[in-house]
Amino acid sequence: MSTDARVALVTGGSRGIGRACVLALAGAGHRVALCYKADKDGAADTAAAVTDAGGEALAMAADVADAAAVDGAVKEIESAWGPVQILVNNAGVTRDGLLLRMTDDQWGEVLRTNLDGAFYAIRRVAPGMVRSRYGRIVNIGSASGATGSAGQVNYAAAKAGLLGLTRSVARELASRNVTCNLVAPGPIATAMLDAVPDDRRADLAAMVPLARLGSPDEVGATVAFLCSEAAGYITGAAIPVDGGLSMGH
Ligand code: NDP
Repeated sequence: MSTDARVALVTGGSRGIGRACVLALAGAGHRVALCYKADKDGAADTAAAVTDAGGEALAMAADVADAAAVDGAVKEIESAWGPVQILVNNAGVTRDGLLLRMTDDQWGEVLRTNLDGAFYAIRRVAPGMVRSRYGRIVNIGSASGATGSAGQVNYAAAKAGLLGLTRSVARELASRNVTCNLVAPGPIATAMLDAVPDDRRADLAAMVPLARLGSPDEVGATVAFLCSEAAGYITGAAIPVDGGLSMGH
């Protein structure tokens, strides 16, 4: 393990972008914990990919929308490895529907998972980061947080909220050498996008200047950079990984 190896937590690491973040951070030499809500097999598979490559990983069930569960997961990491110094808030869900038909449940579930979950995790790990005078926090937003998205008022509101959270945390913790940034992916080929009908997915790819969907690894690489020592002078930034989709927003 390199001298700047850290303890990392990626929420929602069982597949997709979260899994790619876990693998990129482990590839950079960090010990990586990942949590999931339901996909136990996926989480075990991600952890096995890390250990097979000679790294260290811990997979644990924790619903990020439940502050007590987040606390339990972080306690487990702290007792195994010490304080969390890298946090990637990736766990997210969509419950799409047009505004006039959107239910309170659809609205609430998306806000609780995508926005409250990030707040709970940051609040829980921040004291350890402040004490050790080192921290890297990356929140996974979305291009739709800036552009808006028809059929996704809940999701776009949560992702826009993450930007305000990111910048406020960046300001509060900067003097303690803790950075907080947001990565805003465009359409990335994961299970989340599989839920979108084929023709709509093709339309999305056609709207992207680079004319293709992104890969989870392309997001993971950006996240791993923001979590590195080399990114120590970047905080409060919103970095698009979207093939140019949100240019100008
Ligand atoms: P996936 O659906 O493939 O993966 C979502 C991950 O989040 C899974 O590991 C899932 O695990 C976990 N998760 C969901 N709810 C919870 C919860 N309450 N507690 C803990 N873990 C949870 O999605 P993606 O990989 O595509 O998305 C990852 C992030 O990237 C999300 O924040 C998403 O909004 C964002 N994003 C994705 C884009 C895309 O095009 N794919 C574009 C822009 C942003 P489990 O099933 O066990 O709950």
